[in-house]
Amino acid sequence: MAGVARKEIDTPLNIQGEARRRLLVNGIVQGVGFRPFVYRTAVGLGLKGFIRNTPSGVLIEVQGSSLLLDSFCGALKRDCPPLARIEVMKESALDCVAEERFIIADSSAGADVETLIPPDIALCGDCRRELLDPANRRFRYPFINCTNCGPRYTIVDRLPYDRPSTSMHTFTMCPECEREYLDPLDRRFHAQPNACPVCGPGLQLLDAAGLPIAGDAVAEAAVLLKQGHILALKGLGGFHLAVDASNESAVKRLRERKGREAKPFAVMMRDMAKVRSVCEVSEGEFTTLISAEAPIVLLKKKTDGTLAPSVAPGNHRLGVMLPYTPLHLLLFEECLDALVMTSANFSEEPIVSENDEALLRLTGIADAFLLHNRPIYQKCDDSVTIHLSGELRQIRRSRGYVPAPILLREGGPTVLGTGGELKNTITLLKGSHALMSQHIGDMKNFEAYRHFEQVVAHLQRLFQATPELVVHDLHPDYMTTRWAEQQHIPVLGVQHHHAHLVACLAENREEGPAIGLILDGTGYGNDGTIWGGEVLIGDAAGVERFASLESMPMPGGDVAVMHPWRLALGYLHRSCPDLPDLPFMKGRSVELVLELLEKKVNIVETSSCGRLFDAVAALCNLRNEISYEGEAAIALMHAAGGAIGHKEFRYTLNYVIPPGKTIDNEKTHYTEKGRWIMMVSPMIQEIATALQAGMSISGISQRFHRTLVTCFLEIIEKASKATGITTIALSGGVFQNELLFTTLLHELQQDGYRVLSHEHVPSNDGGLSLGQAIIGRNYWTEKVFFF
Ligand SMILES: [Zn+2]
Ligand SMILES: [Zn+2]
Repeated sequence: MAGVARKEIDTPLNIQGEARRRLLVNGIVQGVGFRPFVYRTAVGLGLKGFIRNTPSGVLIEVQGSSLLLDSFCGALKRDCPPLARIEVMKESALDCVAEERFIIADSSAGADVETLIPPDIALCGDCRRELLDPANRRFRYPFINCTNCGPRYTIVDRLPYDRPSTSMHTFTMCPECEREYLDPLDRRFHAQPNACPVCGPGLQLLDAAGLPIAGDAVAEAAVLLKQGHILALKGLGGFHLAVDASNESAVKRLRERKGREAKPFAVMMRDMAKVRSVCEVSEGEFTTLISAEAPIVLLKKKTDGTLAPSVAPGNHRLGVMLPYTPLHLLLFEECLDALVMTSANFSEEPIVSENDEALLRLTGIADAFLLHNRPIYQKCDDSVTIHLSGELRQIRRSRGYVPAPILLREGGPTVLGTGGELKNTITLLKGSHALMSQHIGDMKNFEAYRHFEQVVAHLQRLFQATPELVVHDLHPDYMTTRWAEQQHIPVLGVQHHHAHLVACLAENREEGPAIGLILDGTGYGNDGTIWGGEVLIGDAAGVERFASLESMPMPGGDVAVMHPWRLALGYLHRSCPDLPDLPFMKGRSVELVLELLEKKVNIVETSSCGRLFDAVAALCNLRNEISYEGEAAIALMHAAGGAIGHKEFRYTLNYVIPPGKTIDNEKTHYTEKGRWIMMVSPMIQEIATALQAGMSISGISQRFHRTLVTCFLEIIEKASKATGITTIALSGGVFQNELLFTTLLHELQQDGYRVLSHEHVPSNDGGLSLGQAIIGRNYWTEKVFFF
């Protein structure tokens, strides 16, 4: 409610000149020190009354002089604990009653329904001081926490958020801890994970064979790290695999064992001084790094970095985070500087979260295991963020942010969006809250599927919400689609890029309609082809496909994604009447792929912008085979060296409307009335010619980026002229390309458009479930209304 002027309340006074006020507060006000804060504030001002959890929110009644009541209400809004979030505060006047003091009253039954579970929060300043203070009883205790910090979402099993509902329920508090827990003036009052060395969880260090290693677990683990060993380290939301980030052979060994060839690793650094020695850090990036959410921030590397080259090969950015648990801090106190910290899993499986699971699945990867006995109820990877065009943007929204709700424009029926196949998340809409899950991962194996099912059940239980409708992607073969169809609940299939557009509208609390420029990797289209370079105009109720990139062949279908040279060949074959001979073809089975293309066997058509990047990267001989999605596209962006070509130097652009195509599909809320095709083939032809003429790759990449920006500006102008709409929504995984995104955003704004982009929700498929759920809710509301 910050910023909203409070209406003066006409309060009846009693004989002592006192008044009584009733405040009903909603938001994140549980497990974040809100009640003790209110208690301290009231007692400090000498007010009387009580605070109590009720089914409709936190109820406060306070009594005292009007002046003090005003101070109290001001303090509530101004000095709220860092993790608390007041969304709504309703005030009303009451008659005074005879009362002695202010108390924290017992919760009424079912009291926690409307309050929200907070995310896991990084070690706070007070706990950090105690942790490093030899005189403190929690000196060097790796599980120190308080009402302002520590685990939350990852240790809660169900409501109410109380110790018995958490993974701390097996630990009985010692008298000293219990005294803190029960004292409203203590900073550990009702801190559910409260613990100390006497009564709380402890550490254990095991060798590769699972046998205990003697000595101080933290000190010994640090010794192993310094020797170049791989440590499996249990954290907040799962295990990390850690190695010394300055040790090249150790980092290489981790890559080999984990089956991760080239995808960049994130690094945890001991402090800001270390971070600044390796990376450039803006004011905004600094704020994010030290924030309570403590995500990974993708920072620009300095050229003189001291890290091993294999940490983030071929990338000008480095994922960096600071120690966010007491255990991390203790490790870095042992003279460590920078550790590669990567989610402990094999390839794209979910993160490992339990001790026996770690010993089983990480054997052969980890040289040692640093375990603890506080169970993790919810797997939760580190969040990944980036600052672009002055805003913090989510790339992977997980630990620290989940399950804080994304606020919507309005309420409606409870709906579940099941997300897509890659970077899966789910979203549960409840009232005006979109409850988006943590990153679940790529739905390509049984482990991921199990994790998905577990998260769906957990979110529903935690927020006491049962969906009336389940929404899935249109793709018939996705695991999430099949799951949705088995739920005995009404289902709706939603087109992938429509969901992207609506996700962008929803997080900006916009209704639309907007012109959506959706640039993406892969999404199943209404016509059964693969889309991904789309201009969709509309809102949650439906879209018109106004324009798309020219369709190009993917020889071998999805297989071609990991072999961009096949894409390059497909694009060339379609674009050039005489196939040019280019260096990337050398030593590859070109003839076989050409035969597929000639005979039109096993060819999938795609308008994907992600695939266009892959194809051009391979044409330029930058990446012909890749080990993770986006690798080739990133290489192509890097080749531009951060510069975009001048407006006058671009490849040829053509737009055509193929005759006679009008589609109006009632069922899928999808229309086409003469769709524009943004022609790609002239550009492919010219790039081939430029390569043969020996033009530099960096020049080609700069010109390629410029051509795309111009193309999208021109097509958006057509769309805006045709419809009168001037709001543009940018979504899709390709917008992680910062050169394309920042240039396009800037030039669209210069042209006078209102541009909506993603901040709180990833622009990649991690944001899909939000859009799905909103479209589903719209459909369901209309349907109910109609019948
Ligand atoms: Zn703390
Ligand atoms: Zn204790």
